[in-house]
Amino acid sequence: MSAAIESREAYRAISLYAPKRAPCALDLSDNTNLWGMPPASAAALRSVTADVVTRYPAVYADELKEALAAYVGASPEMIVTGCGSDDVLDSAIRAFAEPGDRIVFPAPTFVMIPLMARMNGLEPIAIPLRGNLDIDAEAMIAARGRITYVCSPNNPTGTLASREAVERIIERSRGLVIIDEAYAEFAPESFVADACASGRVLLVRTMSKAFGLAGLRIGYAVGNTGIVAEVEKSRGPYKVNALAQRAALAALGEALPWVVERVGDALEARDRLSKSLSELEVFDVLPSSGNFVLAVVRKDSSLRASTLALGLANRGIAVRPFTDLPGIGDALRITVGPQEMMEQCLTALRQVIRAESAS
Ligand code: PMP
Repeated sequence: MSAAIESREAYRAISLYAPKRAPCALDLSDNTNLWGMPPASAAALRSVTADVVTRYPAVYADELKEALAAYVGASPEMIVTGCGSDDVLDSAIRAFAEPGDRIVFPAPTFVMIPLMARMNGLEPIAIPLRGNLDIDAEAMIAARGRITYVCSPNNPTGTLASREAVERIIERSRGLVIIDEAYAEFAPESFVADACASGRVLLVRTMSKAFGLAGLRIGYAVGNTGIVAEVEKSRGPYKVNALAQRAALAALGEALPWVVERVGDALEARDRLSKSLSELEVFDVLPSSGNFVLAVVRKDSSLRASTLALGLANRGIAVRPFTDLPGIGDALRITVGPQEMMEQCLTALRQVIRAESAS
């Protein structure tokens, strides 16, 4: 019998992302749009004819790039799209770093970054957030990454990176600076103008969150034309499928007011949820600029994030638990949504806290 074929060494130890998720009645774990998808996108999908499906889509989604360019205030040559922003991030990493190079990022941040680093043979360097939850610009610059990644609003904390720190990184770090703004629509400020002005920033966005199209997998990035062209090459052709391109165009056109209104709903829901969670006297709720909140389990509490999440799962509700986040501790990340869903979550959480505190 011949020996089993093995994959690359650095790659073999990597496990699947979020292996198996148990089905649940209410999923508040992935920061998608719980108000639904834009009605005009639904109509665009319903009107699809066979030729749209039997033919290949536009190779590099030029019409979508034009719509995205108008949306962010850039030119179409400054936009690259992808199969979700995961794909854009991965393609950028592959295009701009050699195996063995370092990618520097804050900790905690988006969990896929160290994974993508290892898949691409890079050395992941995690730099803890400062006590005030801003990124540590000096330490990140000193770590000398071929790529420096900043996420603002940051997943999972929901906090913003300060303009001063980001500007310092753009000015002084070497290599490519990636700014991940997956949650831009919920935030009071963006670095999109900095990305357009700089020759070394790639600003990554998604239609999975505010636009309610996560299932269609549409991500994009904005940057100097030279950078964007390199990412597009690495991304390859046909990455945004024909249905996704149609739904996205509808969302950026006719449905844009709907999206803006739902963002407004999410901001209100975020404030209400943060207040209600604080009133449980078990959590410190971080100030969020995303469509989710991070409820940090107080150190003087005997509760653990994993037990709270399990209790909620037993009641049909999924949230994202984090154990021992660096500098933060145990926490639950909860996606904001319509009032009814938030009430359901809070009622279940009160029951779980009561049950756990009594045991
Ligand atoms: N960046 C951040 C910060 C995220 O939270 C996510 C989704 N969880 C992504 C990127 C990837 O999103 P998508 O691939 O759906 O565009």
